[in-house]
Order: sequence, then structure tokens, then C-alpha cells
Amino acid sequence: MASESTKLTPFEAVTACFHRAADQLGLKDTTRELLAGTYREIRVQVPLRSRDGGMRTVYGYRVQHNGARGPYKGGVRFHQHADLDEVRALASLMTWKTALVDVPFGGAKGGVQVDPNTLSEGEAERMSRRYMSQVSYVIGERRDIMAPDVNTDAQTMAWMMDEYGRKNGHTPAIVTGKPVELGGSKGRDAATGRGTIMVLIKAAADHGWRPEDVSVAIQGYGNVGSWAARLAADEGFRVVAVSDAYGGIYSGGGLDIDAVDTQMRETGSVVDTPGTDAITNEELVTLDATVLIPAALGEVITASNADQVSARMILEAANHPVTPDADDILADRGIDVLPDILVNAGGVTVSYFEWTQNLQEFKWSEKQVNDELYRHMAAAYTAVQERAAKENMTQRQSAFQIAVERVATAAKLRGYL
Ligand code: GLU
Repeated sequence: MASESTKLTPFEAVTACFHRAADQLGLKDTTRELLAGTYREIRVQVPLRSRDGGMRTVYGYRVQHNGARGPYKGGVRFHQHADLDEVRALASLMTWKTALVDVPFGGAKGGVQVDPNTLSEGEAERMSRRYMSQVSYVIGERRDIMAPDVNTDAQTMAWMMDEYGRKNGHTPAIVTGKPVELGGSKGRDAATGRGTIMVLIKAAADHGWRPEDVSVAIQGYGNVGSWAARLAADEGFRVVAVSDAYGGIYSGGGLDIDAVDTQMRETGSVVDTPGTDAITNEELVTLDATVLIPAALGEVITASNADQVSARMILEAANHPVTPDADDILADRGIDVLPDILVNAGGVTVSYFEWTQNLQEFKWSEKQVNDELYRHMAAAYTAVQERAAKENMTQRQSAFQIAVERVATAAKLRGYL
């Protein structure tokens, strides 16, 4: 999916952020070439038998972007837009994200290009197993570790772990975001939303805003958006709007999150939650709220709507929700954008704790997980703020500079450069 105005593909857009940091850091051409590219990209055929006995073939990808700082790490998404370019873009974001929050991983991403709404549960299971089996030659608990992403969850990880184990023996550390009953970490489910709200709390305090004066609009009510809404409301922020693929809901006084969750559980959507007004996803993006949290898909804020954004701050809980041209418009308008590689890094941070617990065959308490998560998020947040203030640049530029510097140092120490 290309962004409308500049026609950059997702990978070109993410690479543009890297090159900007590389320019500012004065990276050598050889370093730039190594870090801009991907280490390995594979495409696999995933033949699928449906319930009625028919067959169809879908394609899956695994892209390993950079492994200088540790094993490749990143989620797998099932989505009709998950083509090689998008997966490549998301893999590179993982490299910068793991470096910024300082967990000892590189970056990777996987995807199966399929509309998940066309899959029965049985097909989803067969597809997850087949995909894992096809890519199993390039992954490993010390090589490349999978996790949930868009339209994949703890159940998907359980199937993948089981499939990998059929050939390789029980290897829980091959995937993170597993069910707790199978070696998943306490707190992993909430981690991306929790990390997002940790950033919100810090950013609001830095602006001198009291939570009760801050209205929040959240696009997306999947794993990330629903936890972000719940935790923001628990902290006293006024969550005025949320949405999902079917549409959005608004309540100026603040949504009742229990009622939204009940509606979601009973109908599969937040739409028509009693006591709320209907809004569209497009209206949510330009809503008059203090903070906008895109928590669904990429490229939802583009040059065509960035000048209508009313929020004073954007927290990128989704990956790559703002195109580069939109980013420039928002910066000119003085709207703070806290970048994805910081805001949504809570997920992979707790994935690191899960992996550690699996390798140690030891379990942490939820408090220990959340305390350690806070430590990583707070350190990354402070580093991004300090560099942005000192060098008078956007938080995205600051975050990328920190991450690129760390990956370049690791690559150099290994003797790659
Ligand atoms: N899919 C999540 C992300 O984009 C988590 C990845 C992981 O835990 O490895 O950050």
C-alpha cells in the first residue's frame, strides 16, 4: 500500500527515517548500506484446505532485517496488505524498536497475505501451522523468535509453538505472546497498551496536563487499543472515542470502558455501545481531543488529513501510522508525535521477559514484569526527550538517532563495518 501523496512504499517511508538519522549522525556509506538493507527475506507458499475440501494457496513472508544486537525478533500478521514490502518495513521498525528500548534482539517480521475474515478457525489453525513449518528452517530460539501482531494472538502462538515442537522438541522460547498456561509471561497481553499509557502519563506530566483534563481518542480496539483504553481510563484520563474496523463511538464525558468491552464481547464490535454517538474512523482521526492514539493499522495519517488533526499530541501505538509527508505537516503545526518505535515497544519488551523466563525455566510475578517494563520504557522515553531537546529535533528523529547509533555500534564491534 503506497502513501497517496508521495507514493513511497512502507519500506521506503521507514527507510527515509533511517536515512535522515544516518545523515544527522554522519554515517559512512558502508554502514548506511548495511543497516538500510535486510539480512534475509523468504516467501513461502501456504496451501490451504478449506472445510468443504477445496484448496487455495496464500503466501507468507519472514523478513530478518538486522541481527547485530541479538536474535531476530518480531511478530507475524495475517492481513491482506501484508506483502513483502510491508513486512520488510515492519521488520526494520523492529530493529530500531528493540535497540531503542535496549532489549538484546534484532528486528524481523512475518506476515501471511490473507484476509483473516475469510478464514474459519480450523483454516486459521492449519494456516498458522503450515506457515510455521515452512519458515522453521530459518528460525530458532537463539535465531529468530515470533510473536503476535495484527490478527494473530496467544492461540496463534500456541499452534505455532506446537508445530515447531513436532520437529524440534518442546521449544517454548520459539514464540512469545503465548498463553500463560503454555509458558507465556504474565502481563504480556496488556504490555503494548500498558507501555503506551506509561508514555502518555510521562508526556502529560511533562506538558503540565492533569489526567482529568486530557481527552483521548483511540483508533483500534484490538489487543493494543482495548488495553490502552482500559489503562488510560484507570489512570483518570478521559477516553472520549474508540473505534474498530466497523466504525467508532464517542462520548464527550468519557466512555464507560466496561460497557464498551461488553458490547465488543457480545457483538464483536464497539459500534452501538449504549450511551454513545456514532463516528467514523476518519472523524476519529480529526476529533477535537487532546491526545490521538492510532492503535490499528499503518498509514492512517497522511498528507490528506494531517492538516485537519486537532489533537495536540499523537502517540503511535500502531506501527507506521503517520506517513513521512504527514509527519512534516504535523511538525510544522507544532503537534508532538511520539514515534511507534518508542510508544508501542512495551510489547516486545515483555516478549524479551517472556523469552528470558522460558530460557531460565522460571516465572516472574506480574509486578516484576510491569516494574521492569516501566524501567525500560522510562529510560527510552527520557533518552528520546533529552536528545530531542538538546538537538532541537522531532522525537522521531531523536528516537531513530539513538537506535541507529546503537545498531551501528553493535555491527562495528562484530566486525561487519
Ligand atoms: N508485534 C509487536 C510489535 O510490533 C510485538 C513484537 C514482539 O513481541 O516480538 O512490536
